[in-house]
Amino acid sequence: MKSANTYASIEIDRAGHLRKDAGWLDSQLTDPASRIVPVWRSRSLVIEGDFPQPVTLPTGHVPLDNAEAIVFLGLVEETAHFAIDVSHHDEPPLRDYGTFQDLRRVGPRMTANEGGLLAYARAMMTWHKRHRFCGLCGSATEVKEAGHVRQCSNADCRNLCFPRTDPAVIMLIHDGGDRVVLGRKSSMLPGQHSILAGYVEPGESLEDAVAREVFEEVGLEITDTTYHSSQPWPFPANIMLGYTARATTFDLTVDYNELEDGAQWFSRDFLLNSPEDATFRLPRKDSISRRLINEWLGL
Ligand SMILES: [Zn+2]
Repeated sequence: MKSANTYASIEIDRAGHLRKDAGWLDSQLTDPASRIVPVWRSRSLVIEGDFPQPVTLPTGHVPLDNAEAIVFLGLVEETAHFAIDVSHHDEPPLRDYGTFQDLRRVGPRMTANEGGLLAYARAMMTWHKRHRFCGLCGSATEVKEAGHVRQCSNADCRNLCFPRTDPAVIMLIHDGGDRVVLGRKSSMLPGQHSILAGYVEPGESLEDAVAREVFEEVGLEITDTTYHSSQPWPFPANIMLGYTARATTFDLTVDYNELEDGAQWFSRDFLLNSPEDATFRLPRKDSISRRLINEWLGL
C-alpha cells in the first residue's frame, strides 16, 4: 500500500456518531483535557521554526463565546479535538501561544499528521464561512451536529448543507519514455512548473475529466489513465485526485488562458538536475504534483 500524501490519513477518529450527542459535546467543551485548534481568517496557530509545530490549546484558554464556529474534529487517542474560528478578532489573538500562519507556507515543513489536522480544521472553517446563508432561500443558516451540518433557519425551508470538498484531477502526462509535460501559471512561484490539473465538471467521470483537461490545456490525446492516490487540499476546498497517463500525440497546443506561461516537455535528466530557483523549480514538496513527479523520476 502506498504511503499517505501530506494532509491525508491524519491520526484522528472522526467519531461521527458523537456529533449528535449534545450532552457529551458540552461536557467535552468544558473538559480541561480537550484540545482546541484555533483558526483565524484561514490561518493556523503554530510555533515557528525550521519545523513549525501546530498549537492546540486546552479548553479554557480560548474564549468560546464569540467564536464564529465550533467544530468537533474527532478524537486523537481519547482526547476530543475541536476547531474554533476566532476570526472576529481584528488582530490575530492568542499571541502568547504562537502566531497564525498560512498553512500553504508552513505545511511543507510539518509532518503529514500535524499538517493534516490543521488542514482539516482550516477546511471546516472555510466551509462555515462560505455557507452562512441558505442557497435556496437566502435565510441565515444555523450550525448543527457539532459543526458538520448547517441548516436553514427559515421554518418553511430547513434546507440542510453539508461540508463540501470539490474534486480536482491532477495528472502526470508522460510520453512512454523519457519526458513529461509540465506547465506554468503566472500565479506560481518564479520558475515553478507543475503537472496539469483541473476541476471535475458535473456529468463527467474522473477519467473523462483527466482527458478533457489535458486536451484543453495542451492539446494532447492520452491513454492508459491510471489512478495513483488522492490528497485533501484545503486551498480553499479541494480534494486532488492524482493520475498518470501516456500521451498518444506529442505536439503541444497550449491554452495560454489556463497556462499563462506555457507548457513544455521536460526530460528526466533535466528534472533530476532541477536548479530549484527562479529559472526552474519543481512543485512544492507537500503537493501530490511533486509526489507524482518524484515517483516518475524514480526518487
Ligand atoms: Zn432556506
